[in-house]
Amino acid sequence: MVRADPVVFITIDDGWFHDPAAAKLLLERQVPASLFLLPGAYSYDSGYFRALLDRGPSRVENHTVNHPDLTTLDAAGQKAEVCGARDQHLARFGDGPRLLRPPYGTYDATTLTTARACGVKAVVTWTHDLTAWGQWNPPNPELKAGDIVLLHFNETLEQDLKRALDLAAAAGLRPAPLREYVPE
Ligand SMILES: [Zn+2]
Repeated sequence: MVRADPVVFITIDDGWFHDPAAAKLLLERQVPASLFLLPGAYSYDSGYFRALLDRGPSRVENHTVNHPDLTTLDAAGQKAEVCGARDQHLARFGDGPRLLRPPYGTYDATTLTTARACGVKAVVTWTHDLTAWGQWNPPNPELKAGDIVLLHFNETLEQDLKRALDLAAAAGLRPAPLREYVPE
């Protein structure tokens, strides 16, 4: 990552709740978000995500198939989760993921080997979870260059995303596409 670049990375996980207002905001602001989707979350409505990919700079990334703690699985189990999600994303969206966010942010040496075998160029976690999670006063940290903001496709995504974009702007940072910044 080029440390000097005044950028932050917006990432949105899972994909269960498909709020049109959140999609509208992503497209209006042309936010280059990394969408760490579970195949199950687009199996009933892939159009929601296809619109984000077709009309904006967001990309679909790997978050496994079934959202397990990967460290509880052996190599074959991890491969089924990571390559399986890659194959389903590719089949549905025509674009293979380059990044893996292991569920719960937990991974081990096997995950790194597996990820590479499944076409992943980097395993990424996050630096700030800005999901409100029902709090009255959701987090408002001071963002710095290179921060990775975690959000979720849930009922508060629109407000959480607005808050994240405001915090980025306040810090003089612009959202950038994470897959283009991670080292090979
Ligand atoms: Zn998740």
